[in-house]
Amino acid sequence: MSEATEHVKCLIIGSGPAGYTAAIYAARADMHPVMYTGMQPGGQLTITNEVENYPGYPDGISGPEMMEEFKKQAERFNTDIRFGMATAVDFTGPVHKVTIDAKTVITADTVIISTGASAKWLGLESEQRLNGYGVSACAVCDGFFYRGQTVALVGAGDSAAEEATYLAKLCTKVHLIVRRDEMRASKVMQKRVFNTPNIEIHWNSETDEVLGDKGVEGVRIKNVLSGEKTEIPVTGFFVAIGHTPNTQIFKGWLDMDEVGYLKNEPGTSLTKIPGVFVSGDAADKRYRQAVTAAGTGCMAALDAEKYLAAKEVEEMA
Ligand code: NDP
Repeated sequence: MSEATEHVKCLIIGSGPAGYTAAIYAARADMHPVMYTGMQPGGQLTITNEVENYPGYPDGISGPEMMEEFKKQAERFNTDIRFGMATAVDFTGPVHKVTIDAKTVITADTVIISTGASAKWLGLESEQRLNGYGVSACAVCDGFFYRGQTVALVGAGDSAAEEATYLAKLCTKVHLIVRRDEMRASKVMQKRVFNTPNIEIHWNSETDEVLGDKGVEGVRIKNVLSGEKTEIPVTGFFVAIGHTPNTQIFKGWLDMDEVGYLKNEPGTSLTKIPGVFVSGDAADKRYRQAVTAAGTGCMAALDAEKYLAAKEVEEMA
């Protein structure tokens, strides 16, 4: 690690709803936060077409527009927002070191982690091309746009089971594409899927191609046992094959579960390192909503403020 070039009171890593909310609170508490946005400023919401479930936007708002508003609000209170990626951390001492873009080292009294998570994708060209035009990795965000229509969903875990039953309430029919002859989801969730009459399960099937030019018109699936291909007309294609939390750089420093979700002290944003706080999807595999991420961003800033105040009292004594 090269020498530190700058010291800040509060460093925020990540620029989704958690990061911006933390910034708004930290800036208003005079912590002069510096935020590094990561490679995708605005986070996952910037690939969401329309957000209709965030309170305060009665007419809905596009994901990118909403993140622009978050950014403006954080800037209004003088958050120093910089484009850059945290590439390494060193949490050995009382002052925390964070390396940006593998070259600049910043030291910080407090670090708020809001690096989020990324949805896993199948990796098909058609899936990428139609992302946001009928292809989505979030049924709760986008399912509403497909009400009364036929959709397909890939996956076999708890997320897929939950999202399939969610979509089944809105859509005429849900084609669930499962790559093996069984689901990984818990028994109770599976039962819910099996008992939903408008979910049709395609076992031993993988997605060959998402069909459509400007929007999704169908999906071609392939039976892995027989090799037979079938085209199913659908207008929405949902992927629910898991998420990867963006927490690799914290490995060895912070506690995480087997997938990499950071562990916090329940009901708080505290990690096992004093002065390091976590918010948003990096520590949340359960809810993963913009509004819950924003809520935990607020918690992280309040916890950081409290930590700094206690430290100042300690230093004065
Ligand atoms: P999981 O990793 O549990 O499941 C991913 C699923 O996607 C697996 O069934 C896997 O298939 C399938 N899959 C992976 N890659 C592909 C691919 N390329 N093509 C087709 N299918 C693929 O992820 P989840 O998001 O479902 O869940 C993550 C965690 O969150 C779990 O611990 C889960 O229990 C928890 N969760 C809990 C909920 C609840 O309790 N209400 C709700 C949602 C999640 P295969 O089985 O063949 O490997």
